[in-house]
Parts: sequence; structure tokens; C-alpha cells
Amino acid sequence: MTKYPVGLCDLHCDTLYKIAGQGDLCNDTCHVSFDRVDDFAYYAQVMALWNPPTDPDDLCYERFLKSTDHLHRLLMHHPDVSLCTSYRTLADAASRGKKAVILSVEGGGLLGGDLMRLDEIYARGVRLFTPVWGGVSCMGGAHDVGGGLSPFGILALKKMLSLGMIPDVSHASKEIFYQIAAYADMMGMPMVATHSNSAVICPHTRNLSDEQFRMIRDAGGVVGISFCIPHLSENGAADVGTVADHIEHYLSLDGEHTVCIGADLDGIDALPAPMNGIEDMGLLYEELQRRRFSDALISDIFCGNAMSFWKRHLK
Ligand SMILES: [Zn+2]
Repeated sequence: MTKYPVGLCDLHCDTLYKIAGQGDLCNDTCHVSFDRVDDFAYYAQVMALWNPPTDPDDLCYERFLKSTDHLHRLLMHHPDVSLCTSYRTLADAASRGKKAVILSVEGGGLLGGDLMRLDEIYARGVRLFTPVWGGVSCMGGAHDVGGGLSPFGILALKKMLSLGMIPDVSHASKEIFYQIAAYADMMGMPMVATHSNSAVICPHTRNLSDEQFRMIRDAGGVVGISFCIPHLSENGAADVGTVADHIEHYLSLDGEHTVCIGADLDGIDALPAPMNGIEDMGLLYEELQRRRFSDALISDIFCGNAMSFWKRHLK
């Protein structure tokens, strides 16, 4: 019996960028370390391959290739961790108490205007794709600058949807959000926001309006709550209770089957007090219990909603 009677599914971390093609999945320097997450029945972590917009596109693509090669080497030394590209492999890992990695790309600059790179990215196991991150890339403008998808961005979005890669609207400008919604709907795909909080609780360009949340919900997508303090609270102070406040707001929008965790660990400097890393996820579990959430609802937020999403969309 584990300390908490649920799995932990987290929709976003930047640990692969932080270990930079060199470090290990178990380490003392990152928020996420696979040996520090044994309190849960199973663990499925989406790991993003992030591309800083200030780096040249080709350098970002080389880093992606190097990081995925490195991950494959690491997995040979960690038989308790599996790279999952289908629900079948994910459910198998979960049922055996193994740890699972699902790969995403965060920031489409690495495409460098070359659609063929999407084939290689998919072949390397990536199943989620965040088209924009910050500033302007070959895909279009992110939340901080605005603007829609470029003509190349539209072609790339259609191609990733046809390959079966799920679009992630975290970091999208308003214009790109609605474009992704329209194309995903047209192609029978969902959209997700892997790490996006409520703009009603904290008005930030990264956060989602109630209308955006409802659109993701109605498209069968999921939304991960981020632990990024500037996205949790306007005054720069946040604790585990602030995370729960964002969860409660999404629940007030009939989000009980939509809300997940997408903590953005290793993509943020500080965590909500008193958390230090993945080992403290149980503090959120205990906060939700204190708020008298039912066991079933806490289980859905921690793992059930993500697992049923993967069941529907990770073929
Ligand atoms: Zn991010």
C-alpha cells in the first residue's frame, strides 16, 4: 500500500531541458527525480522538450535529437521507467506500479519551417505539441506578443493533428487558441492546456478565461494546474492553498472531469510554499482532503482524468 491511494499523472515538466542531455532521471538538482515519487500507486509524467525562442531553430532541433537520444540511453538504465506512446503501454506500466514518461515538444521553433521534422519528432515518441512558447517563431506569435499562426504554422498544426499529436494551447495567444480549437475540431482531435491556470483567479496572459476552459472541456480535453507562482497569484505569493483555489475555480465551471495537475516543475524557479519538488505532491492531496473533496474527485484530479484522456486519445 502506498502512502496515497491514487496514481500521480503530471502533464508538464521541463526536467529534460534542465538535465540538458547529460543528467539522470534520478538526481539531486531537479524538482523532478524519479526516485523521489514513491508515495503514489503509479506515476506518469509528461516530459517536455523545451525550446528557448532566443536559440536558433536548428540548434533547438539538434537539442531535441540529442535529448531524445539521451533519454533512450537513460531508460536502458531505469527498467522501472517506460516511455509510453500508447494508452496500452501506459496502462500496463500503471498496473505494474512502474513509472511512465510521455513526451511533448514545447515551442515549435525547432521545426525551422520544415514540416518533415514533425515525422521524426513523432517517430521519437512525442505525442503532445505546444506550437508556441514566447515571442514570435516560425509557427506564429505566443501569448506575450499576440498574433495568429503563420501560414507555415497552419500547415504544421494540420500535419501534427493528422499524425495524432495532440495540440497544447498553453502559451498560445488568444488568436492561436481559437485557430487550434477550430482545426482540432475539424479533424476530430481534442486540445489540451497542460499547464495553464485560471485568469479569473490570477489575470495573466498565460492563464485561461472561463470561456477557454469551457471550450477545452467541451472538446474532450484536459487542463493541468501549474505551480508557477506568477501564474497562481498576482501578488507573487502562493502556497498549496493557492493551487487548490485554481482547482476549485475550474471545478465551479463543471471541470471535475477536466482538471489535472501540470505542475511545470523544473520550468519554474520557486514552488508554492512549502513545496520543494515532486516529493511534496502529497501536500496538495492533503490540502484537497482538508477542503473536503471526495476521495473520487481527488483521485480524478491526481490521475483519473488524465488516464481517461490518454485512453481516449493516445492510440
Ligand atoms: Zn511552459
